[in-house]
Amino acid sequence: MALLIIMEDCTDCVACIEPCPNDAITKNDGIYHIAPDKCTECVGHHDDPQCIEVCPSDCIIPDPDHEESDDELQEKYERLQTAAA
Ligand code: SF4
Ligand code: SF4
Repeated sequence: MALLIIMEDCTDCVACIEPCPNDAITKNDGIYHIAPDKCTECVGHHDDPQCIEVCPSDCIIPDPDHEESDDELQEKYERLQTAAA
């Protein structure tokens, strides 16, 4: 499952952008966005989602519109690795 930022709880601290191994988090016009086609919930890189680990506001949650199994997240990770090669 990709993740989602709840903007009303986000304090614009920027902490989540740098730790993302997939460059899935961007900020445009003050709005943070997690690209569902890039977010693997950190599968392939870390045991836990790094953005959730660093977010001081606990405002990053699973995105109900992008439910994915562990196998699908692993496949996405492998696709991203192939595309980056
Ligand atoms: Fe990036 Fe991992 Fe957060 Fe997804 S869970 S947005 S891959 S840091
Ligand atoms: Fe917002 Fe959390 Fe990211 Fe900080 S770490 S910018 S509070 S989503």
